[in-house]
Amino acid sequence: MILEHGKVGVLHYVLRDASGKTLESSHGGGPMPYLHGFGNLVPGLERALAGQERGAHLEVALAPADAYGERKGPGPQRVRRRDLPKELDIVPGRPFRTTGSDGRDVILWILKAEGAWVTLDVDHPLAGQALTFDVDVLFVREATEEELQHGHAHGVFGEHSHG
Ligand SMILES: [Zn+2]
Repeated sequence: MILEHGKVGVLHYVLRDASGKTLESSHGGGPMPYLHGFGNLVPGLERALAGQERGAHLEVALAPADAYGERKGPGPQRVRRRDLPKELDIVPGRPFRTTGSDGRDVILWILKAEGAWVTLDVDHPLAGQALTFDVDVLFVREATEEELQHGHAHGVFGEHSHG
């Protein structure tokens, strides 16, 4: 079985920046399942995985445009925590959706939180960076109906359910 639209790939991966520094790794934690063809991975990585099967090992070097995109915004901005929505969970590394000054929806990434201040950016924390993914395909399986409806994988074996 190969990785194509509607299949779930279960991966171990190491993500490195241009200097070779490890930014993220699935080793030590569990492997990462993803549903192929639904944009759940950065575009260059999903393209490289298409047609791969169990046991494949890939080293994928990506330009920023094929990873988290070029930087578009003005750079990190500091705002007061009290000016953010009360219900917002302030977790560095997480995005949230809000309404911009022009009335349009905008995604903001939380970079850090210090005391009364929170640093936000319109760009993903890894935007503008060339990245390398070192990937092992542990196995490939059929997606469940529910996974296809939701557009994402529900655990390594499709075992998780949620509302
Ligand atoms: Zn779901």
